Amino acid sequence: MNFQWYPGHMTKAKRQMQEDIKLIDLVIELVDARIPLSSRNPDIDELGKNKARLILLNKSDLSDERKNETWASYFKEKGFYVVKLDARRRNSMKEIQNVILEACKEKIERDRRRGIKNRPVRAMVVGIPNVGKSTFINTFAGKACAKTGNKPGVTKGKQWIRLNKDVELLDTPGILWPKFDDQMVGLRLALIGSIKDEILNIDELSLELISYLKENYAGTLAARYEVEETVERPVELLEAIAQKRGCVQRGNEIDYSKAAALVVDDFRSGRLGRITLELPEAE
Ligand code: GDP
Repeated sequence: MNFQWYPGHMTKAKRQMQEDIKLIDLVIELVDARIPLSSRNPDIDELGKNKARLILLNKSDLSDERKNETWASYFKEKGFYVVKLDARRRNSMKEIQNVILEACKEKIERDRRRGIKNRPVRAMVVGIPNVGKSTFINTFAGKACAKTGNKPGVTKGKQWIRLNKDVELLDTPGILWPKFDDQMVGLRLALIGSIKDEILNIDELSLELISYLKENYAGTLAARYEVEETVERPVELLEAIAQKRGCVQRGNEIDYSKAAALVVDDFRSGRLGRITLELPEAE
């Protein structure tokens, strides 16, 4: 789902989260594994201080496996628990369950010393729009008890989803906004499809992608579109792709926009392979 935020939304969402965070032991933060920093909210570390922290590198089925490892180490070094995830699949849910208990072991131990038994750990899911929060809640809870998609601004009574005797999850995820003001961040969010396509220039986007792929994933475009990557400018590569794919308008003119949309769509859907768009050391 695409999104646009306004200052009113942001203030309200942040205030709501400040309230919700008081109720929980653990923040489960979803980021997009293709852009783990650009898909984070700048305020979450402040909001979540004094809480146990788990980062889920979601959509890791679409990102580069080696870079997933790099990012996992990066966040672990900063004191987060980390799990790589494809939120649509159930196979990581047991691991996450164990990591949650590990992350909250101090609280569990404290409860035990005080003679409190069977008080479940409480957690909430947070993240920017479209990172997979609802999908994760649905999969983790094992049934359709969280709606997929976002409805910012809709408030309802707090509901806890009881996952098992040890863990409860707040049913509504906390929706955070990314760092819009940073141009690179905006570009990367647009590439993964988190910003309305109508408000950005798909031609520009595809050229940025082509130049990134040429530099960091040499051979990818050549393999998919049967084009030479030796040309100097990204626009020449786009032209070659357009020709290969028959993206021409009336009068045999190259249809750059059609080719651009094709390349961006192939990237988003994983047809170009597993690609990560940013690395920690570059930040
Ligand atoms: P939310 O806005 O954070 O609640 O995001 P959603 O749960 O609505 O997910 C947004 C889109 O991403 C949906 O089309 C999901 O099917 C898709 N999605 C969620 N998790 C994954 C994942 O791990 N891998 C892939 N490939 N797609 C995912």
